Amino acid sequence: MRRKVEIRGGGIAALCCARLLATRGLDIRYSTLSGTTGPTLLINGSTQKLMCDVFQTEPADLFAGSVIVKKRVVLWGGADKRVELPHFGMVVDESTLVRRLAQRTPFRSEESSTPDWVIYASAKAVTEQKFRFGSRVATLTSVQLANAGSDSCWMESLDEGWLFLVPVGIGTGSLISVGAGPERLLAGSRLVTQQITHINKIGNQVPSSPAILEHLSGSDWLACGSAGVRFDPICGEGAGHAVREAILASAVIRSASGIGGFKSVLNHYESRVLGGFLRHLNLCKQFYESGSDGAWWRAEAKSLAVGAEWVTRRLMNVSTSRYRLAGFDLELAHAV
Ligand SMILES: Cc1cc2nc3c(=O)[nH]c(=O)nc-3n(C[C@H](O)[C@H](O)[C@H](O)COP(=O)(O)OP(=O)(O)OC[C@H]3O[C@@H](n4cnc5c(N)ncnc54)[C@H](O)[C@@H]3O)c2cc1C
Repeated sequence: MRRKVEIRGGGIAALCCARLLATRGLDIRYSTLSGTTGPTLLINGSTQKLMCDVFQTEPADLFAGSVIVKKRVVLWGGADKRVELPHFGMVVDESTLVRRLAQRTPFRSEESSTPDWVIYASAKAVTEQKFRFGSRVATLTSVQLANAGSDSCWMESLDEGWLFLVPVGIGTGSLISVGAGPERLLAGSRLVTQQITHINKIGNQVPSSPAILEHLSGSDWLACGSAGVRFDPICGEGAGHAVREAILASAVIRSASGIGGFKSVLNHYESRVLGGFLRHLNLCKQFYESGSDGAWWRAEAKSLAVGAEWVTRRLMNVSTSRYRLAGFDLELAHAV
């Protein structure tokens, strides 16, 4: 087996790969790439469980001190009434979560010899994704909340974009505005604006439309997490995808010189990641087709349709996979 793996990144995907490979005896090096200063994340129940399985720990440990969100309140597509849906999510600052994951990944070789594999596991480790489906950016804003002890998050569509608000601590919240800046969207808001008493600080803009690299792997490398595929925060599943891709990437690397050879398992990796990205694009399309019939929404929905066609064409060039994941290991799905 090719045993030396260099992981370029220090975020969720990188640390999951490092943990999974090191605990199986591979020689791991990873870098922090100037650290992660990401957004506030709302981590759903299935992603919490997956992270705890990878790091052999409990939610109370990884998400200590997090606000628990139990309800999602939505006002979408010009509806007269808000809809309230049950939800279960933990709110955590991405840098806090990454620090806790890093504390549970104590494996780091100082060896400088050439690696057998490189995993590109941070957006900073690759040049900008070539294929981007939409032009939207997100602005992150810290706000004061009207209700100090709220256990809800709020989501609202407006003619020029959408807002998502989540409580982060007693009386404070994190607001994402996409399509236009927070002040402009809050001026037309009927739901989210009622939850906010004051804007504390308007942060930077970050790209938020889905994007993907032209190729996700080569004979001695893989792209994992936002290095390979970036997800629209509208679905709140980016961290979950990063963990799932890391599990798959680690299983593929461990199997590459065994069952079926590396070309075959890398093909499996491409097909699974592309399949996940296609499902994400179709889910996003439902949000953008129903948010409003304004020009911005129509243009973003059209870009997503173009993306879904592009991924479908690429999937046609990837042969049918013969593998499946059993826990964290890859196995042949059927005899060939
Ligand atoms: C505004 C916003 C809100 C999000 N909210 C949630 C959420 O509530 N729940 C959830 O599960 N996921 C959310 N995500 C996605 C989540 O942050 C990433 O999917 C996850 O951090 C990927 O892990 P990684 O190890 O691949 O990241 P890395 O590549 O190590 O990235 C670290 C940080 O950089 C950001 N980033 C990635 N690509 C770029 C880029 N091209 N330009 C600028 N920044 C970039 C990532 O979002 C992440 O915050 C959100 C992303 C954004 C941008």
